[in-house]
Formats: sequence, structure tokens, C-alpha cells
Amino acid sequence: MRRNSGRQCGGCTACCKTHGIHEIDKPKGSWCWNCEVGVGCRIYHDRPLGCLTFKCEWLKGVGEESDRPDLLGLVLDLAVSRGNQPPEILQVFEILEGGLHNAADLVTRSVSMAALCSIPVTFIHASGRKEILDESRSLPGDILEAAIYEGFEIVRKPPWQ
Ligand code: SF4
Ligand code: SF4
Repeated sequence: MRRNSGRQCGGCTACCKTHGIHEIDKPKGSWCWNCEVGVGCRIYHDRPLGCLTFKCEWLKGVGEESDRPDLLGLVLDLAVSRGNQPPEILQVFEILEGGLHNAADLVTRSVSMAALCSIPVTFIHASGRKEILDESRSLPGDILEAAIYEGFEIVRKPPWQ
């Protein structure tokens, strides 16, 4: 369990599926072999630094207590990128089919905040579909090119609209 803003992961293990952990070559989008889903990490005391330091937005205090990612059906992650990527990007990972639609209010607020700060937003659907939002057609070309290269589709509206 991690602590932040008084919150703990508890029985949530959602990011053990959504996120890639390069230290152990764990790919994005599939359950980590060390994860006991809904319980926790089997190597908790020896888990990689990437796991030790990761905090989703809920853990940082975004949303209500009841919006815990495994209950809500999605993980919000304001990620700091490396290299040529933009300095920050809001990644919305859907972990249960319908999660994006069910959480539309919370995600709309988060997307609006990101837009105010010119932070790009991506949606990674439970189906594997990947989208980058360019509502006002204002994202720089290099960001869009990189996203397309990684298999993202450019969309003008959030998935629930
Ligand atoms: S998604 Fe958030 S609450 Fe869930 S295990 Fe990961 S950091 Fe903890
Ligand atoms: S090593 Fe543990 S904390 Fe890290 S992704 Fe795997 S199960 Fe989750």
C-alpha cells in the first residue's frame, strides 16, 4: 500500500495491469505476474522503483473516495514524460469496459483542467484502442506524429460524447 493525501491503494491493483514497468520488462495493458489481482503485490517489499514511486491521481487526492480506480473502472495518471515527449500528459486508462462512460463527469473535469494547462490527454480503452484528444486542433505536430507512431488515433471529442 502507498500513502498520499491519507489514501491507500487498499485492494486496488489497477495500475499493475495498465502500466509498463521497465525494470522487470512488464508490458502495458497486461497483468503483472507478481500481482494478486484485488489483493496486492507478491513482491511488495522488493517491488521495482517504478512501482514504489507510482501514484495515480486518485491516490494523490483527485475525485471522491468511491472513485478508487478498480471501483471506477479507470486510472487517471498525470505522467511526466521523458525525451522528446511533452513535459506532462494526462493518461486515462480504462480498465473495465464502460469505465470511461461511467466516469464521464470526473474525466470531463480532469480533461478540462488539462486543457487549461495545455496538457495533452490520451485515452487507452479496455479494448486496446488508443486515442489522443485534439479537440481544438492545437496540439503541436510533433506530439501528434509521435502519438500516431505509437498507434494512437487522433480524436476531436472525448469518447463519451
Ligand atoms: S491505480 Fe492508484 S490506487 Fe490503484 S493500485 Fe495503482 S496507485 Fe494504487
Ligand atoms: S511488481 Fe508488484 S507493484 Fe509492480 S506491477 Fe508487479 S504486482 Fe504491481
